[in-house]
Amino acid sequence: MPYMHVPKRNPRQEYRLKQRERVEASPSIAKKFPRLKGLKVTLEFFDAAGSTKQGEAKCKLNVEHAKSALWFACPGVECICGDFDLSEALFRAVAARHKMATGEVRCQGTRKRGNRGPVPCGTLLRYKFNLNYE
Ligand SMILES: [Zn+2]
Repeated sequence: MPYMHVPKRNPRQEYRLKQRERVEASPSIAKKFPRLKGLKVTLEFFDAAGSTKQGEAKCKLNVEHAKSALWFACPGVECICGDFDLSEALFRAVAARHKMATGEVRCQGTRKRGNRGPVPCGTLLRYKFNLNYE
C-alpha cells in the first residue's frame, strides 16, 4: 500500500482563512492612504513559464471600504500556501504618488502533481494599478 498523507484538516482552507483574517484586520485603503481617491487593479495570471494566460480580473476598489491588505487568491488548482500579496506594491506606488504601477509576482505555493508529491506552483501574476489622488 503506497504511503498517503491525509491531513486532518484542509490546509488550503486553513491558510486562506488565516489570510482573510489578516486582510479583515487591516485598515481600509482610505484610512491608510488618505490622499488616494481611486484605485483600479488589473490582474493577469500566467502559467509558470509566463507564456500562457490562465485568467484575468479587473476591479475598481472602493477605497472607503476595501482593505489595505491587498491579497488575491492563486487560481492554481490545489495550490497551497501561495497566493499574491500586493500590499507592499500598493504602498510603494502610493508613497511615490505613481498614477500607474505595474509589476510581477510569482506564487510561492505548492501543488500536488499526480503521485510526485508537491511541486512549486509558480503561477505568475502581472498586475497593474491605476491610482487617483485628491
Ligand atoms: Zn499558486
